[in-house]
Amino acid sequence: MIELVDVSKTYKGGVQALGPTDLSIEAGRVTVLLGPSGAGKSTLLRCMNLLVKPSTGGVRADGVPSLETRGDLRRHRRRTGMVFQHHQLIPRYTALRNVLLGRVGYYSFWRSLLPFGRADERIALEALDRVGLLDKALTRVDNLSGGMQQRVGIARALAQQPDLILADEPVASLDPATARRVMELLRRVCQESGITLVASLHQVDLALEHADRIVGLAHGRIVYDGPADEVDDDD
Ligand code: ADP
Ligand code: ADP
Repeated sequence: MIELVDVSKTYKGGVQALGPTDLSIEAGRVTVLLGPSGAGKSTLLRCMNLLVKPSTGGVRADGVPSLETRGDLRRHRRRTGMVFQHHQLIPRYTALRNVLLGRVGYYSFWRSLLPFGRADERIALEALDRVGLLDKALTRVDNLSGGMQQRVGIARALAQQPDLILADEPVASLDPATARRVMELLRRVCQESGITLVASLHQVDLALEHADRIVGLAHGRIVYDGPADEVDDDD
């Protein structure tokens, strides 16, 4: 589904966030990138849709021959929903309007100014229904709780009708009980729709509970890669 070959990232200023890394993501599964803050999870995740441009190596996505042309990259990003730690919703917009932005892509500012069609609205409302927030469609997201805001973030990704969702610390800003519920929801909606999920997490318990596969990262390197049920608690 996604293949990274010899991908590394050194940011301006010389921090090597990610050493040379090979990783294939299989379609239809839940892969968790697990590691402490600073391990390189976010960098690795963002390389998968070139929100971070690798310093070396290449990224391939199936169905898209190369991510090197603008057209192919746009096609790949259209198939890829993003969920962010701080959800990146527009606070003074309603939940529905935020989810509609998933229909036009966060990359297309000009398109987002045009009116939305009925079909887009139906898909957005369905997405809100999937996360249990249909009754909040017309509520401004700055009036919603943190957990609800993140569910709107998930609905926005779903409204894109993606093949793949990349979730960067999707529950790190939530209290533990809410984090557990939101992670459970994210995994369930992806599984129900056959969406491949790659999520970065720093909580071992959540990773063990929800991942099919855990990729452990430390200091910009993969230090573990295997099924969640074989992880040793001391690793
Ligand atoms: P997170 O909570 O995801 O770990 P951070 O607080 O580490 O976020 O970083 C927030 C933002 O700042 C990210 O977009 C990250 O790419 C950027 N960032 C992190 N570390 C640095 C740094 N040393 N120099 C510049 N930008 C950084
Ligand atoms: P994680 O997601 O595991 O917290 P990151 O990929 O955010 O790790 O960060 C890995 C390393 O790269 C950290 O040392 C971080 O400070 C650094 N870093 C992240 N983003 C940037 C950036 N935009 N500029 C400079 N350094 C960064």
